[in-house]
Amino acid sequence: MAEARGHVPDPQTFGNPETGHFWREAAHGRFVIKRCTACGKHHWYPRSHCPHCGGGETEWVDASGGGTIYSFTILRRGGGKVPAYVTLDEGISVFTNIVDCDPERLSIGQRVTVRFWAEEDGLVVPVFAPES
Ligand SMILES: [Zn+2]
Repeated sequence: MAEARGHVPDPQTFGNPETGHFWREAAHGRFVIKRCTACGKHHWYPRSHCPHCGGGETEWVDASGGGTIYSFTILRRGGGKVPAYVTLDEGISVFTNIVDCDPERLSIGQRVTVRFWAEEDGLVVPVFAPES
């Protein structure tokens, strides 16, 4: 696992045990999301209580890794990444980046699959790439 030397974790992502689990899984190449055991719905971002029914029993499950592009923004200096919202096959939308793509050829509704992108500081983040 990459060591994140000198990296100050963002409290929004590392500051609580719920999201901490997500990042540890990502570091091992696993994309996990939360599902409520009461109503069975998935949600994002990870929370201890279900935003759909308020239930306090949620569990981590492996996401299928597939989804479709809901919206995206082409930045002139995107560094090979295109910020986008992707609607997962589980029905929830996540803010992420599209990689390994020609930005000019992206389209709303396009199929994408999860990839794992190592930031310069060692943080591994789930991103998406067009299905080939
Ligand atoms: Zn629920």
